[in-house]
Amino acid sequence: MKTRVVKIGNTAIGGGMPVAVQSMTNTDTKDAVKTIAQIASLEKAGCEIVRCAVPDVESAAALRKIKDAISIPLVADIHFDAQAAIAAIENGADKIRINPGNIGNREKIIAVVEAAKAAHIPIRVGANAGSLAKDVLSKYGGPTSDALVASVIQNIRILERAKFEDIVVSIKSSNVPVCVEAYRKIAKQIDYPLHLGVTEAGTYHMAVIKSAIAIGALLLDGIGDTLRVSVTGDPVQEIYAAHDILKSCGLRKSGVEIISCPTCGRCSIDIEKIAGSIEKFTQDIKAPLKIAVMGCAVNGPGEAREADIGIAGGRGEGLLFAHGEIIKKVDEFNILPELRRMILELVEEREEQ
Ligand code: SF4
Repeated sequence: MKTRVVKIGNTAIGGGMPVAVQSMTNTDTKDAVKTIAQIASLEKAGCEIVRCAVPDVESAAALRKIKDAISIPLVADIHFDAQAAIAAIENGADKIRINPGNIGNREKIIAVVEAAKAAHIPIRVGANAGSLAKDVLSKYGGPTSDALVASVIQNIRILERAKFEDIVVSIKSSNVPVCVEAYRKIAKQIDYPLHLGVTEAGTYHMAVIKSAIAIGALLLDGIGDTLRVSVTGDPVQEIYAAHDILKSCGLRKSGVEIISCPTCGRCSIDIEKIAGSIEKFTQDIKAPLKIAVMGCAVNGPGEAREADIGIAGGRGEGLLFAHGEIIKKVDEFNILPELRRMILELVEEREEQ
């Protein structure tokens, strides 16, 4: 669905631009050194927009130092405190995320909006199933998709009444069907870019499953301009998961895609170890590569031929493929070193092109 373009620092989202990957730091924002280090790890993993919690004016002041040390757009996440929002804008935030409903009275909202206007930065507003207003909850009988849509529309109208339209919208629930339904509904009603995410998605395993289902379904519908996979834990994991979702939806070609079989009684080499090791080895490679790691001759050669590099297992050995051609047979213990060598050669080749 075509949305309008919104610029966040040096990155544009919406209007058919590539879907941007976001994450949020979990360091104390006031500790600029730690926060900068975490953003560097996020950036290395492929984070394209980063958000920091700004609970007070001191955290807002730290944004200046953080911003000067990073090269991706910096978003300030603010609740309850209009002064912190204004300070974040003054300290170089490229976007702010607020909930106008909890920023305070109209005067305070206008002050924040005027500061964003003057700095030419967008504001993300959203609805979150966990923080819907009591009147909305009672009107809709709970945090339903309609309640989320009504709440987000209220927030959008507050900004529009203040003549502000540089808006990004999110509408999150931890309930996957509700979340997907809410995004589908809001996408029909507005043309502001949508920030996708499942809120409070859980620890890694469940967060990735919930996010892949919800974000994946929406992306395949053509909905979504930027996304965050929320994981309880290291935010770097969010970035890898986000890129994998985009790749699985056919929206990103960069990075390594590993095709590996589930193994069965026909497999006589340790495919799990080989696939796991190759996944780790390639996780920061940005060149587009397809690597097949297959257990036997049933589907192995077919998949390996389709991949840039492939291995089809045999009895204590493996058949290596490159660009669809058989290269050689190696014994099991040499499969990993040979694969790593071939991958590095191919990456070098691609980088030279
Ligand atoms: Fe089993 Fe071979 Fe298929 Fe792997 S490729 S699942 S080992 S039949």
